[in-house]
Amino acid sequence: MANHDEVYQHYIDGEWTDGTGEETFESENPATGKSLGEFRRGTPDDVDTALAAATEAEEEWQALSHIDRAEYLWDIYHELKERHQELGEVVTKECGKEISEGKADVTEAWHMVEWAAGDARHPKGDVVPSEIPAKDAYMRRKPRGVVGCVTPWNFPVAIPFWHMAVSLVEGNTVVWKPAEQTPWCGQIIAEMFEEAGIPDGVFNMVQGFGDTGEAIVDDDRVDTVLFTGSAEVGQEIASKVGGQPGKLAACEMGGKNNIVVTEEADLDIAVHSAVMSSFKTTGQRCVSSERLVVHEDVYDEFKERFVEVAKDVSVGDPLEEETFMGPLIEEGHKEKVTEYNELAKREDVNVLVDRTELDDDEIPEGHEDGHWVGPFVYEADAQENLRCTHEEVFGPHVALLKYSGDIETAVDIHNDTDYGLAGAIISEDYRQINYFRDNAEIGLAYGNLPCIGAEVHLPFGGVKKSGNGYPSAREVIEAVTERTAWTLNN
Ligand code: NAP
Repeated sequence: MANHDEVYQHYIDGEWTDGTGEETFESENPATGKSLGEFRRGTPDDVDTALAAATEAEEEWQALSHIDRAEYLWDIYHELKERHQELGEVVTKECGKEISEGKADVTEAWHMVEWAAGDARHPKGDVVPSEIPAKDAYMRRKPRGVVGCVTPWNFPVAIPFWHMAVSLVEGNTVVWKPAEQTPWCGQIIAEMFEEAGIPDGVFNMVQGFGDTGEAIVDDDRVDTVLFTGSAEVGQEIASKVGGQPGKLAACEMGGKNNIVVTEEADLDIAVHSAVMSSFKTTGQRCVSSERLVVHEDVYDEFKERFVEVAKDVSVGDPLEEETFMGPLIEEGHKEKVTEYNELAKREDVNVLVDRTELDDDEIPEGHEDGHWVGPFVYEADAQENLRCTHEEVFGPHVALLKYSGDIETAVDIHNDTDYGLAGAIISEDYRQINYFRDNAEIGLAYGNLPCIGAEVHLPFGGVKKSGNGYPSAREVIEAVTERTAWTLNN
């Protein structure tokens, strides 16, 4: 791969195809600005063909047992493990994450595949007591049918498998559109399904952007839409699909995540957690923390130590093991982050570190055309309803919010955004931790840890504006199956 003589295609109904469109698009390495390859841009007609194939393939796929369906996934599990280093480098080249994170993306993908394929041998549904002695009563799960998957660029291997592994094992067929920034990862995943010999039409991949994703969402043949991405797009999809009877959209969206550092915190843990959560992946994780809520008793020391790291942390070639921060995904996103940094200044916050534009000598050699940005750190009034402290920036843009008083005050500040994805508390006091656990309005809560990281055997999802009630990872089962209450009189 990245063979520049070739224009990469869609994978539909067991075939590689140019589809109907004339247009192509490039995948770009965000660290160098160089092209990684050229890809066909899908059209609504290509989605139509893929959905026809997925619909046609449903019956035979559903006739297989869970265990037989999982066999295809086990092949992919082994492939992901064997090609760990190579695939990690592809992730790093295509989305700019530093290499240990690129490899972690692949690890998380095989964890998901392992979970889904292993789950094929677990009991499905429940046997329940009946009010009538002679009657058997069960809850059974059935596949919903065709699942349309629309995924973001920032976990370009893991998140597609979060969507597709459980969907397929449960008996659904899939039409997937990778993010436009990461079509190379899409290509490789489609090659894996082909090599695993998945029956024609069961897995389909259409590259593209704009109307390609919309065509999946809008089509009546799609029974479930699995979407992970921004709140803006997710809300649009949820409201569109909500108006179509019998169809369901599971949307996992962004966050404006907090770390609460109480007066009882171990400051080594607090600073480490904040640095990891705010700057890893250059702040481009849905769970990255952009708000640090710190008690006044420890505020000055925490601030001094966090700011020292923010001033010093360097960007680097993401393929180098020692690099901590890579680039932003694309120039348009750099403009967005820069605008938010400017907005914060207009909102009159107290800027502590402003490395929006890095000096030439801070940018790694040979990477001058990458989309580089350094940390932007500021103090703001927790009581003020500023846009910069309430909207997701998705970059290394971090607010320090000082509080005084008790844990209730900290959690009130924590909950004062429209989002509810992830958050952490750093404290040595179990009562504070328990209060946070019970009252923080989030789906992913961390204690004395950075607020990043996922385990696929836990639900992964947010509340409020961050999700619509269908968490991802293992919980995808709720969105891709329907339950039947079955009673039988003996
Ligand atoms: P995005 O712009 O919302 O795009 C996500 C996907 O949706 C892409 O494949 C995109 O394709 C597609 N899309 C865009 N508009 C669409 C429409 N109207 N109809 C159907 N599909 C459409 O998000 P992103 O920039 O890739 O990812 C970053 C965002 O994802 C952040 O907000 C982050 O917090 C969130 N995220 C959430 C989670 C979670 O689990 N909660 C995990 C990772 C990321 P094209 O743009 O190519 O058309």
